[in-house]
Amino acid sequence: MNALFSRLSAAAERRSTAGLYRSDLVLDGLDLASNDYLGLSAHPLVRAAAIEEIERSSTSASASRLVTGTTHVHHRLEAALAERLRHPACVTFSSGYLANIAAVTALAGPDTLIISDAHNHASLIDACRLAKAPTSIVAHNDLDAVEAALAGRQQSEALVVVESVYSVFGDTADLPCLLDLCVRYDALLLVDEAHGIGVTGAETAVGMGAAAAVSEFRDRLVVTATLSKALGSQGGAVLGAGLVRDAVVNTARTFIFDTGLSPAMAAAARAALDLVTAERVASMKAARAQLAAVLDVPVPAGAVLSVPMPSPESGVRARELLCEEGILVGCFRPPSVPDGITRLRLTARAGLSPGELAYACERIRAITEIFAAESAA
Ligand code: PMP
Repeated sequence: MNALFSRLSAAAERRSTAGLYRSDLVLDGLDLASNDYLGLSAHPLVRAAAIEEIERSSTSASASRLVTGTTHVHHRLEAALAERLRHPACVTFSSGYLANIAAVTALAGPDTLIISDAHNHASLIDACRLAKAPTSIVAHNDLDAVEAALAGRQQSEALVVVESVYSVFGDTADLPCLLDLCVRYDALLLVDEAHGIGVTGAETAVGMGAAAAVSEFRDRLVVTATLSKALGSQGGAVLGAGLVRDAVVNTARTFIFDTGLSPAMAAAARAALDLVTAERVASMKAARAQLAAVLDVPVPAGAVLSVPMPSPESGVRARELLCEEGILVGCFRPPSVPDGITRLRLTARAGLSPGELAYACERIRAITEIFAAESAA
């Protein structure tokens, strides 16, 4: 075997022994693992919008946005997202990952200090690395650490980067306090709403994310979003001032050199946006409360419920046992978790029937009890 393949093979062996092997199996069952929080990916109106757009135009944007890849569907989606999420402007991408990279790299320059929460998603971590700006990683949700970094900075500019709802633990960032710090120390706040949209939001903007509730600070705010979770489609977006859109469109490599978002997915996301209703969000929240009760964990702010497991092996085994019972849950293991603790990850979804929920709760209780007994022994 050549030297490179020998290294890969040894690494695969180590992963396997440590219970950290990953495989992309096709799974079938009651979905309590995906990020389709409002159940919109299979909604007839969302599917119809995608099909209609494919029949009317094509499956692909077929070019990058600045060549011929921009369509009216992109602009209509961007206008709708900007209006609903309360920003002056929006630009869409073929994924949320690329939107995060675009936002951070377009905003941060050599005289910007990026202050990034330690639990930020991999796409934000990569974005900070690619921005090549000085970056200070601050302890998770530690406002004092953010303030210390802002106050002690050498750079004239600062960009604080957080998630509104964190994807692993489901806890939230304190946006009003962060914005207050940004005003006091002349900084900008970038909020990734990947797990906030469809889930959180003020009464006047239900399901539009936590940042929409603080839109009076919009000159201090840049929001990134994914179309691939609660909006049931695929793609991402950056929202903010017109100047932000302009900087992204003119400088972000993941916008300029990537084929535009598929028009069909743009049409699907546009249709889904109208289906983010208070009733759907309430249905997700009811499922969330029921699952939190059975898992004996506090009700989270997001749709994600995470249950610590004694080891990666027990997490994987619990997931397998549930899968055998027809229930799909996730398992987060190192290195995907910031604190090295394996967790079962369940997501609440709108539209689950009482029968489905009752069955899932009963089986989850039985299986998590096996592992609780094992770790107590
Ligand atoms: N940000 C966060 C917090 C995420 O959880 C994800 C998806 N896992 C992304 C960004 C990337 O979004 P997408 O899947 O659309 O690339």
